[in-house]
Formats: sequence, structure tokens, C-alpha cells
Amino acid sequence: MAPATRVTTSFDNAAQVLLPPETGLRYLRTTRAGELALDPGGVTVTDDGRIEALEPTADADVHVDATGCALLPGLVDCHTHLPFAGWRAQEHEQKVTGVPYEEISRKGGGIASSARALRETPDDEVLAQATQLAGEMLALGTTAFECKSGYGLSREGELRSLKLARGLDAHVPQTTTRTGLLAHAVPSGYTADTWMDEVEAMLPEAAEHADTLDIFVESIAFGLEHLDRMGTLAAAHKLRLRAHVEQFSTMRSVPIALKHDARSLDHLSAIHPDDIGPLAQSETAAVLLPGAEFMGAEATAPARTLIDAGAIVVLATDANPGTSPIFSLPLIVGLAVRRYGLSTREALLAVTLNAAYVLERSDQLGSIEPGKQADLVLLDGPAEQVAYRLGRNPVAATFVAGQPVYVRPDAEWRIAPR
Ligand SMILES: [Zn+2]
Repeated sequence: MAPATRVTTSFDNAAQVLLPPETGLRYLRTTRAGELALDPGGVTVTDDGRIEALEPTADADVHVDATGCALLPGLVDCHTHLPFAGWRAQEHEQKVTGVPYEEISRKGGGIASSARALRETPDDEVLAQATQLAGEMLALGTTAFECKSGYGLSREGELRSLKLARGLDAHVPQTTTRTGLLAHAVPSGYTADTWMDEVEAMLPEAAEHADTLDIFVESIAFGLEHLDRMGTLAAAHKLRLRAHVEQFSTMRSVPIALKHDARSLDHLSAIHPDDIGPLAQSETAAVLLPGAEFMGAEATAPARTLIDAGAIVVLATDANPGTSPIFSLPLIVGLAVRRYGLSTREALLAVTLNAAYVLERSDQLGSIEPGKQADLVLLDGPAEQVAYRLGRNPVAATFVAGQPVYVRPDAEWRIAPR
């Protein structure tokens, strides 16, 4: 849902404007990130919220004084598990102090605990929590994000989750998308095989609420044959395939996912070296989740090797109440720069254009170019500070379709009528 705007806006005198090397790109392979410009400039936005020109305009209705600021495209979080209910802070403390996961799980923790919380929480409370978190994300520069089901763990629960995600779209200024993570954990009373039968049965209805299917491929969840089946189901329903793969174990999911032309493969901390080349040469994006790796003390994905091999590398929060209760893309950028050895341009490309590509929105979002929706983030300093001042929020103001949807109090003076 984009708010209506009725004024033209000119962003004046920015110290840096992040621009792609050419217009009309669906994605940019990360090897080319160095071609992104971060030069001084301005931007003019039309009264219907589109980018009109890559220069300021004197007679615009509203002027944004961007002196000293970096102007970026709105950040895109292409992997979140919103909406969910409640938190699992106690479980996090148990985990980091050495309680084995099996014991946490036996006591009702893990995904089952989030499934129970979702089941017991009324719709309006689930939406209220998700809306509040979307507000936090706006203040952190996120103007588009993905929602996933996956805590339903029953046919009714998954469908309810997707409908709640659709309901959330009406409550928040951001662009949202819906992914049916219909194979997240094997619900009790099912085997992985019989649950996939249930997925197949719910799909005609689920497909009305989602544009993408997702599956958690792991020794404790679903196997390669289930990934193969999900790929076939996605194609049959004209949905895109994404998958959580190679997070803890090297499963060799990549060749199967590539066969099904997956839009992205997410996690990849344990990817087999032989699978890096084929993934990097494909149009399947490598979505890396350094927040989940950090919070779970997991292996670090071979980001540099993927980039050097030509991959479309993307970063996201994996925001969820269990393994990554992180909603800050600036923090994710900082973690990626430090832990993966990414440059600022590589990391920013991974949370803008390439993330929009994963959500199939790069025709309208993800870069500053004429004709695109004017989703913009004004930082209070140069872009290099995002990673450097780790953990600090550098966002002075966030704009959706040209309209300010978050303005930090100390930046209010920057936005003024002519
Ligand atoms: Zn996830």
C-alpha cells in the first residue's frame, strides 16, 4: 500500500546518490557492484510518487535539504518470517548458555513454540505486532519486505497465515509480498511425505494468496525429494520457488533447486564447493543471512567466493522470533561487510536492486531511476558509515512513493515547502 502524494518533491544537494550503472536492470551481478555511482546530486519526484529526474528542481512543491547526506533507494528485505506471534527470548538465553536444542525442543520450544503462539493469538493481535515491527523497519529504511507463512503447521494455519500477511499489507506503507513456506517443519502426526501430500492438497487455495513457495531443506526438516516435489508443485501453480538450503548441513540442494529455476536459495552457510559455480552462473540469487549466522553461531557463507564466481548476492534479515529476531538492514549490511568482506557498494546492492529482483519487484523498486516508484532513504551521513558505525541507525528519513513515512526528529528541518 503506497500512500497517495499530491506534491512534487526535490531532493537537493545530496553528498551521495546511489545510482545503477544503467537503467532497466532486473539485477546486477555483484562483481559489477563497483560500477554503482555514489556521487553528489539530487532527485526530483513527481506528484504521483515516481522518480522524474536525476537532478533537483527549483520549483518543486517540497524541498528536502540533503546536505551531507547519502540518498539511497528504499531498502528491500526479501526474507522475513512476518507475521508471527510473540517472541522466544528465554529460548535464546538457554541456547547461548549451552542448553542443547533437543532439550529446548522437548520442552516445547523451537518452531513448535511459535506455531502454538500463532494459534493462540487472535488476528488483530498478530497484525498489531507485525504492524509495530513494520514501523520499526520503516525507521531503519526498509520500504519493501517479504512475508512468509510457515508457523501455521496445519492446512488452516498456513492459509490463515497467508491471509494475515495480506491483511498486513493494508496496515503498512511498505510494499509487501507473500511467500507460502508450506514446508517449514513436519507437523506432528505427519511424515515429511504425508505432509507434502497435504501441501499439494492445500495449494490451489494457498496459491491465491502467495506468489512464491518456500521449503526448509535440512536433516531435521525436509529432504531433497521434497524440494524436487515443491519445485514441481510451484511450476504447476505458476508460482516462483525459493528454498532455505544448506544452513546447517551440506545437503546438495543446489542442483535440484537450479533444475526448477528457483528465484533464490537462502542461507548457503554449508554450500558444497562444487555447487558454487553452477549457482553463480545461474539467475538464481544467493540470499545470505548474516544475522541468523551470527545469532546461531553458524558457519559463515562463502560470500566472497560466490561473488567472484559471478553470483547475484543478496542480503536479508531472516527476521523471525527464533533464529534471527533482527529487523535492521543497516545492521545486516554492517555484519556482511565485516564478516563476508563486502564493500559498501556490494552490500548496498544486495539490499536494494538485487533484493527487489528476488521479490520480482525490480521493475518498480530497488534503484533510483526515472519512472520507478520514489522509495528513498536519506542517511544522516555518507553510505560508508552504515557498516562502519555498526549497530547505529543512520536513517534520517524514509520516503515511500515520494511521501515521508518516517522522519527522525533531528531531521525534520530538512523537509520544507517551497
Ligand atoms: Zn528464514
